[in-house]
Amino acid sequence: EAPLDPYAAPAEHDLETSLRPRTLGEFVGQQRVREQLELVLTGALRRGSPPDHVLLSGPPGLGKTSLAMIIAAELGTALRVTSGPALERAGDLASMLSNLAEGDVLFIDEIHRIARPAEEMLYLAMEDFRVDVVVGKGPGATSIPLEIAPFTLVGATTRSGALTGPLRDRFGFTAHMEFYVPGELERVLRRAAGILGVDLRPDGAHEIARRSRGTPRIANRLLRRVRDYAEVRADGAVTLEVARAALSVYDVDELGLDRLDRAVLNALVRSFGGGPVGVSTLAVAVGEEPSTVEEVCEPYLVRAGMLARTPRGRVATGAAWRHLGMEPPPTAPG
Ligand code: ADP
Repeated sequence: EAPLDPYAAPAEHDLETSLRPRTLGEFVGQQRVREQLELVLTGALRRGSPPDHVLLSGPPGLGKTSLAMIIAAELGTALRVTSGPALERAGDLASMLSNLAEGDVLFIDEIHRIARPAEEMLYLAMEDFRVDVVVGKGPGATSIPLEIAPFTLVGATTRSGALTGPLRDRFGFTAHMEFYVPGELERVLRRAAGILGVDLRPDGAHEIARRSRGTPRIANRLLRRVRDYAEVRADGAVTLEVARAALSVYDVDELGLDRLDRAVLNALVRSFGGGPVGVSTLAVAVGEEPSTVEEVCEPYLVRAGMLARTPRGRVATGAAWRHLGMEPPPTAPG
């Protein structure tokens, strides 16, 4: 029997790369952001100088990295990629900055997690295209100013509120990415199905889109899972029935909530009587990092009308109680 050929088909992470939109035209949805960005880029191209620094904020999987790549592609320049947690020492950032060529795009993912010294170095770099490199230690230390090439910083964050004021102020353009509506996700899915060669039927696309938490990355992932099911247990076509059956195997519920979403709602309702409860308490109850609950899970639960953020803590809405099959108390909002 022939062994499985590992080179026969691209691995899953390569699939995600191949599904990335390459141009603003291919980028589905986020119409306001696209229109604004188009103006920023066209203006800069006409003037022949790098555009203002761009901050992209929003939950994971909404297309921030894709947009950063598109910005560099539309400008015809190189993209350098790093992330806040990787820039622990100012020296890491200094070497990155001094290697930039004129007009390059520097993408810093999770920029709200950048360490303080690197952040301070970034101020000067963003404003004056200069860094001060400190040489030596103690009283003999001197700082040598170093010119860097004019560049465009694209920062991405799941928590724009966690950015310091001075950093936020240095971005000339901030885009808030919104969750996608099902119609937009259907377009994302149709495009992905075309690239992957999946026989995606309209009612199947509709069902997957509706249950993708408003997030293109999740839509594409569910499409790959439903395709597995369609090929193994059916005739390969992704129909409504196949999508429904597959999504129940993968624990995606009627509203598209996943295990963690449901765990959070369950804890909120069953352990804390519907709240209010602080996010760290809630995170401990579900065994997750508070930042994951806050940045990955909550935005969609709020958007879906299941959870409300109040000054005293998180509260389950009436819809959340009913979604868990329980009668909400009269005090529950919504
Ligand atoms: P983020 O950086 O916000 O976490 P990504 O840019 O990595 O999100 O997007 C994740 C995946 O979702 C991409 O690989 C791409 O397949 C898909 N995707 C995201 N936004 C769009 C979009 N607007 N149109 C089409 N596909 C998208």
